[in-house]
Amino acid sequence: MNLADTEIVLGILKKQGYDVTDKPEEADVVLLNTCSIRENAEQRIYGRIGNLKTLKANKPELVLGVLGCMAERLRKDLVEDKKAVDLVVGPDEYRRLPEYIDIALNGDKGIGVKLSRTETYDDIEPHREDGLSAWISVMRGCDKFCTFCVVPFTRGRERSRSLHSIITELENLSVRGFKDVTLLGQNVNSYLDEENELSLDFADLLSAAAKVDKNMRIRFSTSHPQDISDKLIYTIAEHPNLCNYIHLPVQSGSNRILELMNRTYTVEHYLNLIEKAKKIIPGVSFSTDIISGFPTETWEDHLATLEILKQVRYDGAYMFKYSPREGTKAFRMEDDVPEVVKSKRLQEIIDIQHQISLEKNQDMIGKDEIILVEGFSKKSNNFIAGRTDTNKTVIVPINDKIKTSDYIRVKINKATSGTLFGDYLSHIQLEKEGIALTA
Ligand code: SAH
Ligand code: SF4
Repeated sequence: MNLADTEIVLGILKKQGYDVTDKPEEADVVLLNTCSIRENAEQRIYGRIGNLKTLKANKPELVLGVLGCMAERLRKDLVEDKKAVDLVVGPDEYRRLPEYIDIALNGDKGIGVKLSRTETYDDIEPHREDGLSAWISVMRGCDKFCTFCVVPFTRGRERSRSLHSIITELENLSVRGFKDVTLLGQNVNSYLDEENELSLDFADLLSAAAKVDKNMRIRFSTSHPQDISDKLIYTIAEHPNLCNYIHLPVQSGSNRILELMNRTYTVEHYLNLIEKAKKIIPGVSFSTDIISGFPTETWEDHLATLEILKQVRYDGAYMFKYSPREGTKAFRMEDDVPEVVKSKRLQEIIDIQHQISLEKNQDMIGKDEIILVEGFSKKSNNFIAGRTDTNKTVIVPINDKIKTSDYIRVKINKATSGTLFGDYLSHIQLEKEGIALTA
């Protein structure tokens, strides 16, 4: 999401005549786009600001700025107390960034940290380098108020872009040859184009997106388990180019903890949803997010989390230690799971998930998969790397028929927990494969 926001910022600045340099010492303005989701993300930014101070010492007119969620939260600390930066601009004020830079260039502090109920940057064209994969933010903010989460405070209320503008952006990406686009939002299932008289929802958006270019894969993230509708599940099943991959964060396997987290679903509801999706979308795969060591989490709660991992058998998971965030409801609860216990539990979660990912990948040996060729593999120019519909990387020996951006059918012959290996079988046209992709 931050990378997508950075592209919006670049779009705004490029229009004003700014250009990007990859040499920090050449820059007149250095902007750090920041995240507040966990404490270590914030600590890293303090480290980066420290490093950039040397740059500023050599070039005092350099404008050093902080964008994003930390700007919102740490404005006082960064600008007034530590005087570490010249500029702080939060996620809803990027439109005015050129003004704030001018203020900073004139020697004052540029500060814009107001949140908006309406800003979606609907009309801003993000600056994207040519390539195959792109993100499109379809909504901003979040109204869920999970008790551990700082997002509703740093990114404000939920609001959606118009369906029309998203489809236009997709059409432009298709013309430029992009083949894999991810629609982004904190809770995409709450997407609603209220300005349209038909009140179009996320399933309508996905359906329209799938039709733009049948050779373009569409992904989306993140879905909240409370809001996935049957209509959405049927829509994913209906369109071959809507990827059969759902990122569905569960956070914990214990109903008591889920309630304390204000996640508004139970384990039973979650598992029913998974079962339903598996029936309606053949071959669907899931990934998840897990938080370990939320306040009051007992050994039994932890075992329940291990249990849900084993039951669902996710393809992958993002796993975190609970990190108290100021301003959230959970911040007022005692952070009573000791650090060593959090670490131990997290390691158990990681080990189990690692084993499941390995087994699931090994189950694919001997099967055919369709991959989008993304380029050479990281390790060798004798191999190409591509991704499956379910977001797994496959490495294939190169031959003179295979080009970047081709869709090819491969046979999987080897698997680790993170990567599949395969052999080339044939080229395919995604739009002609139709239902075969989901079979
Ligand atoms: N909107 C998405 C999540 C966005 S944040 C959703 O609701 O699923 C991405 C992930 O960061 C969350 O799913 C959660 O697992 C993790 N996270 C958020 N706040 C956290 C905190 N205070 N401590 C640890 N992990 C956290
Ligand atoms: Fe945070 Fe919950 Fe919103 Fe996700 S749904 S962004 S975890 S408040």
